[in-house]
Amino acid sequence: MTWPRGRMRAAVVAAPGRVELAELPIPEPLPGHALVRVDHVGVCGTDLELLHGTAAYVRDGRVRFPHVFGHEWSGTVVAAEGDPDGPAPGDRVVGQTMLACRSCANCQRGRRNLCLRLREVGLYGQQGAAAEYIRMPVDSLATLPPEVTSLDATLVEPAVTVVAALGTAGVGVGDRVAVVGTGTIGLLAVQLAARSGGHVHAVGVDPAGLELAAALGAETTYQPGAAPPDAYDVVVEASGAAAGFATALRLAATGGRVAAVGVPTEPVTGFDAGDLVLRGVTVYGIRHGLDHYGTTIRLLAEGALEAKPLIHAVLPLERAAEAFHLLEHGRNGAPKIILSLREGA
Ligand SMILES: [Zn+2]
Ligand SMILES: [Zn+2]
Repeated sequence: MTWPRGRMRAAVVAAPGRVELAELPIPEPLPGHALVRVDHVGVCGTDLELLHGTAAYVRDGRVRFPHVFGHEWSGTVVAAEGDPDGPAPGDRVVGQTMLACRSCANCQRGRRNLCLRLREVGLYGQQGAAAEYIRMPVDSLATLPPEVTSLDATLVEPAVTVVAALGTAGVGVGDRVAVVGTGTIGLLAVQLAARSGGHVHAVGVDPAGLELAAALGAETTYQPGAAPPDAYDVVVEASGAAAGFATALRLAATGGRVAAVGVPTEPVTGFDAGDLVLRGVTVYGIRHGLDHYGTTIRLLAEGALEAKPLIHAVLPLERAAEAFHLLEHGRNGAPKIILSLREGA
C-alpha cells in the first residue's frame, strides 16, 4: 500500500490550558518507519500535566505548542518503509512510548528504559497519536492478536509499567500487597498482583474506585488513614500524590518493597529517611515498562488483565476538549477516557 499524502485531522494542546482541533500534514515517509492509522487514543494524568503546563518537559521547554498529545493508542498499519519482517499494512498495532536512542551509554549497556537521550511519543520529541495518522519506527510497534480489541489495547501502554513494577518489586504467592491509588495504574496493579498470588488490599480516597478495585480482585479496601501500617510485603504507589507516597512507605512492612509508579510533582512532606533505613524498606522508582509489551499483550489476550471495566467513556476525537474536562472533573470509579478516530464513533 502506498504512503498517503495530504492533510489529517488532529487534536492538539494549542497552548497551556487549551485543547483544539487542527489540520496537520500527514507525516512524510521515512526509512525504518511505518505510518499507522490511529483507531483509539487514551488520555491520562500525564496528558493533563501537559495541558496544565506542570509536566517537567513543558517547564524545561522540550514541548512546543501546538502539541499533538497521545501516548496510549492503538491503530492499523497503512504503509511501512523498513524491515520486511516487521509489522505490515493491515496489521493492528500498539506503539511504545519511549523511543530510545540506542547509542548512549545506558542504551549500550542494554538499559534502553534508562536512555539518556530519550524521546517520548506524544510527550516530547515525537508527535503523538491524537491524529488520524502517526509515524513510528517499525521496531517500536507491537502487533496485536485477534483476541485484543483496538479499544482494550489502549490500556497496553499503562499496563506495561504495572508489569515492570510488579516484576521489579517481586510479588510472590501469598505476599501481602497494598495498592495505593485507584486510577488506571492502580486498578491494573490490583488485577495483576491478585493473579500473581498476592493478597491484595486497595487503598484510595475515591469510594467508587475502591468498589471497582474490590470487583477486580482486592480482598479488602481502605481509605488511606485506615490502612494498617507496617503490614505489607509489597506496596505499589499508583496515586501520583506526594501524600500517597508517604502512605506507601508507612504501609510497607519491615523488609518490605515499595514500587513507586506515580510521579508526585511536589516533595513528600514528613518523609522519614531514618524510619526507611531502620525498617529496611526498599523503594524502587519504576520509570516505564519498555521491555514488557509482549507480556502485557499476552495478559490481555488471555483475560488475565481486563481493560473493559476501567473504561469510563469513549468520545470521538472532535470532543477532545470535553475528554480532558471529563478526565479532570467528571468521573468516579472507572478512570479511563478514550478518544476514537473510527468512523461513526
Ligand atoms: Zn498515560
Ligand atoms: Zn540512549
